[in-house]
Amino acid sequence: MSINTKYIFVTGGVTSSLGKGIIAASLAKLLQARGFTVTIQKLDPYINIDPGTLNPYEHGECYVTDDGAETDLDLGHYERFLNVRTSQANNVTTGRIYQSVIEKERKGEFLGKTVQVIPHITDEIKNRIKILGKTGQYQFVITEIGGTVGDIESLPYIEAVRQLKWELEHDCVVLHLTLLPYLATSGELKTKPTQHSVKMLLEYGVQPDVLVCRSEHPIGKDIRKKIALFCNVSQDAVIEALDAPTIYEVPLLMEQEKLDEIILKKLHVNGLPDMHLEKWKNFLNKFHNPQKEVTIGLIGKYVELKESYKSIAEAFIHAGAVNDCKVRVEWIHSESLTEDNIEKKLKGLQGILVAPGFGNRGIEGKVAAIKYAREKNVPFLGICLGMQCAVIEFARNVLGLKDAHSREMNPATNSPVIDLLEAQKNISHMGGTMRLGSYPCKLEEGTLAYNIYGRQDINERHRHRYEFNNEYTKLFKDAGMVLSGLNPDAGLVEIIELPTNRFFIGVQFHPEYKSTVENPHPLFVSFVKAALG
Ligand code: GLN
Repeated sequence: MSINTKYIFVTGGVTSSLGKGIIAASLAKLLQARGFTVTIQKLDPYINIDPGTLNPYEHGECYVTDDGAETDLDLGHYERFLNVRTSQANNVTTGRIYQSVIEKERKGEFLGKTVQVIPHITDEIKNRIKILGKTGQYQFVITEIGGTVGDIESLPYIEAVRQLKWELEHDCVVLHLTLLPYLATSGELKTKPTQHSVKMLLEYGVQPDVLVCRSEHPIGKDIRKKIALFCNVSQDAVIEALDAPTIYEVPLLMEQEKLDEIILKKLHVNGLPDMHLEKWKNFLNKFHNPQKEVTIGLIGKYVELKESYKSIAEAFIHAGAVNDCKVRVEWIHSESLTEDNIEKKLKGLQGILVAPGFGNRGIEGKVAAIKYAREKNVPFLGICLGMQCAVIEFARNVLGLKDAHSREMNPATNSPVIDLLEAQKNISHMGGTMRLGSYPCKLEEGTLAYNIYGRQDINERHRHRYEFNNEYTKLFKDAGMVLSGLNPDAGLVEIIELPTNRFFIGVQFHPEYKSTVENPHPLFVSFVKAALG
């Protein structure tokens, strides 16, 4: 169907953490399932240029795109739901907006003018929104505005939405996500917070077209009627969003509520192409009916905040469904592990994953866990820092290089088996300067990695500054470590494995970023399979 690009804005009210990203991704999934082309964008009101410099405790996982953008973790949801790649253009922060406006000011692009929030900042925001539409690749651009309506930081974004609503007329709708709190004492769902957040939007000149109401209990007809009346939306545009057992259920809940239909109607898209959600439902069916269970330990230092390892946790869900099994992830703090307690702490795990990370905290626990996995022949997957720790462990305990380390943790080590990438040596700025994004990797035939991928050439996403030190290649190879994947241009070691073990593999890249519902990542699928035994 040929249509003008349509713009859908998703705002949030009442409180944060309502799941705007999941609602946006679910709506996108439904539109995609009807045959439309869709992309989703996140606008983040904070002043960092990107979340790459943020501690995971502050902001959860930093997600990385093919083109090397360090982004909000919601982009991970977008890719996992849609199986369509996102890019630099899909995540924009206030920092980025101001940076480009200020650069333009310095170049003299606004010569003679006072540079102001309106129109200069709002114009830049509008350009960033329309950039995706202008590619001609998408019929729908869904833009999620981070934060909650009323936050000082999000004001320019809401103002940009107000202007676009005016400019784009029928090609634009605003979906506002709110919360209906349930008061147990009176046994009622309360609509007042929703009314207030819509009033606040109205103060800024934006009338939402659709209200999606998060609720722990079904919303009756009367409540829908009341919300519609107070918020000037049609009754069928008051959508119930009940808590779901898994985020992957939300598209189906939204389908039942006809969210996509009402959006299409409001956007004057005539005709309703059939919905094809067979693959999605097939996945959910497997997810809900596991035949077996497997327990995998995730060793990391941010395990108190599971959002820090979002993509890994989701990749296990995808890989579990393929294997008809439920993957129970046991979150283990690397700082709690020592050589002495390792047996006790890791006993019973059927697989061990050592997570990515930066800095020294918890390193020795990770190394101890890998020693345990190697010696007890427990399936092991090391990701990025996890792979580097596997190299360190092997150097110390097999090669006998007792002080082997990464220069990141011990710059003075005599055995820097992991060293700073050559290209990183003159870098002083921290933001956006790592080895980022997709790079090719060549797999050696006959290795575990080759068997897992079933081909020689792969591309995976990276986010690191350190690498395997190729001065040690011969030592490692002679002792039985296989360097099964290399970057063809720079010869960087991307994959290590131990063929003496059942499943022991470390990867310098992040396979978790590329796992989607439709395309579960082969490394995770094989790892879960190996853990099942
Ligand atoms: N800190 C390590 C490096 O910079 C690993 C990074 C990571 O795990 N993402 O190379």
